[in-house]
Parts: sequence; structure tokens; C-alpha cells
Amino acid sequence: MSVSWSLVIHGGAGRITREVLTPEQDAGARAGLGAALTAGSAVLAEGGTALDAVEAAVRVLEDDPHFNAGRGACFTREGTNELDAAIMDGRDRCAGSVAGVTRTRNPVSLARHVMEASPHVLLAGSGADRFSAEHGLEQADSSWFHTDERRRQLDELLSADADAFDSDMKYGTVGAVACDAQGHVAAATSTGGVTGKRWGRIGDSPLIGAGTYADDRACAVSCTGSGEVFIRVGVGHEIAARRRFAGEGIQTAADTVLAEVKELGGTGGTIVAAPDGAIAWSMTTAGMYRGRATGAGEHRVAIYADEG
Ligand code: ASP
Repeated sequence: MSVSWSLVIHGGAGRITREVLTPEQDAGARAGLGAALTAGSAVLAEGGTALDAVEAAVRVLEDDPHFNAGRGACFTREGTNELDAAIMDGRDRCAGSVAGVTRTRNPVSLARHVMEASPHVLLAGSGADRFSAEHGLEQADSSWFHTDERRRQLDELLSADADAFDSDMKYGTVGAVACDAQGHVAAATSTGGVTGKRWGRIGDSPLIGAGTYADDRACAVSCTGSGEVFIRVGVGHEIAARRRFAGEGIQTAADTVLAEVKELGGTGGTIVAAPDGAIAWSMTTAGMYRGRATGAGEHRVAIYADEG
């Protein structure tokens, strides 16, 4: 079966309003989203796989300091960066993920390596760092991930004596979902987590079925938001299950599951791609950095909820 390819990306959701963002931040984020869409679209336009496309798009966002993933990741309470990422292939539900890694320039590619070159799904901490070095992934000095703005956010949190979860909930996790011309879907997500996190805290992003999920029988999903609630709801799998067992459209399924997140006190957003090429996004927040591109010629980025 041949379908028209489609790609959706996000760069995090939260209290993102025209009043909060400076014109420079707005323009910088739009440029970064546009570059990621272009990278992922190029793969799909050449007949490449959804898996390659989501990895390509997420790598661009990881390297962009505007987003909380890779370079520009938020700081832990101890002033380090601990990165989480996942990738999943809807063809066979193969998946790989990493949590709390500190040395790999592009954690999404490390997650893919876990999927393809190990018998495991999830590797964490120093073991995952070692796996990365042993398998020759590009290593980065800790200074590569640091930005002044993320340091300022940590300092603000520490001086207010606040907990990681009192922060202003401007998430910056990145993700991508795609459907390729063969009708296969894939999802990828990458994040620094939340500012001021401690005790080895891990969010939903690297947890298959929570922040990341892909199944050709249903759809591919990548999430951003209050990770603990997304884990409890099992957002990625829940959206896919509603499509698979209840026959819901992906927009209805995404809206319904995010309403459940909201009911439990969570906030955030999600992007979805189905094997028929349909795409959707949904958010409970004032904004979500996002973009969509299709084989039919759409190429669009948006930030604020009212941008449609
Ligand atoms: N969901 C991520 C986490 O809880 C945070 C985010 O979306 O920015 O780690």
C-alpha cells in the first residue's frame, strides 16, 4: 500500500504565550522547528522510513539550544544534565530507550542503538553511558549541553527553594511521529526532563507506552508534559488502544486521553500519526512548539494554541 507520507514534530508544551516569549525566542523556536521538519521531510520525500525520519528530526531539535533536549537540556538540582530518549518502530513494535545519560550528543540515536544493537529496550545511567562509548556513538563534553538560560532557570528554582514540580511548566521536550509512504509509523522523544529533578528521577519520555509509542495497527505517539501523570495514564499506549479497539479517530483519541491527564492534575501535549497518513496534535496548555509536513506539500510550524 502506498500512502502520502506525513510528519509531526513537537518541541514541548506549557505556559507559552505571546506575552511570555520574546520575539527572538519566538523566531528562534520557529526556525528550529522548521529545520527539524525539513530534515525529517527530506527522508520521507526520498522514500525513506518513518523510523529514519523521526530520528533525523529529533537530532536537529536535540542540537538546537532552544529546546530541552540534548544541547539546551534543563539542569538537575546538582547542576548536571541527565538525558532521556526513546524511539519505536510501528512495523514490529521494536523499541529502544535510554534514561539519565550524560555523555551522548544525540540521545535519540543512542536509543536507536539500544533497539538495534542490544537485546534490551531500556538502559539507564552509567551503564547506558558505557554502552554508548563502547558502541562508538558521538560523545560530548558536559559543557556541550549547558546553556545560560537553563542555568538561570535552575538558579531561580533553587533561590525560591521550590521543588522541580513548582517550576513554571514550560516544557521543552522534543519529539516526532511519522507515517512513511509504505504506511509504517514511528515515534521518537528526547528530553532533559524537568529543571531541578533529583534522585535519578525519570519521566515519561523514555518509557514505552507512556511518552513514546508506535504500532502500525494503530498509530505513533510522542508526548510532552507533566511526566508523572503521563506515566500513570500510559498516554501513548492509551491513545493507540482507543484507536485500535474502539475505532476512534486519532484526534478524538488524543483529546480524550489528554482530558484524562488534565483530570489527574497534569498538563501537556501530544502528537499522533496514523498508518493512513492522518496526523493530529492536542494540548491542554496555552501553547506547544510544533510543526507538520506532508507529501501533499504542507509545511507549517506553530507555537500558540490558537494557531490551529
Ligand atoms: N515529559 C517530560 C518529563 O516529564 C518533560 C517535558 O515534556 O518537557 O520528563
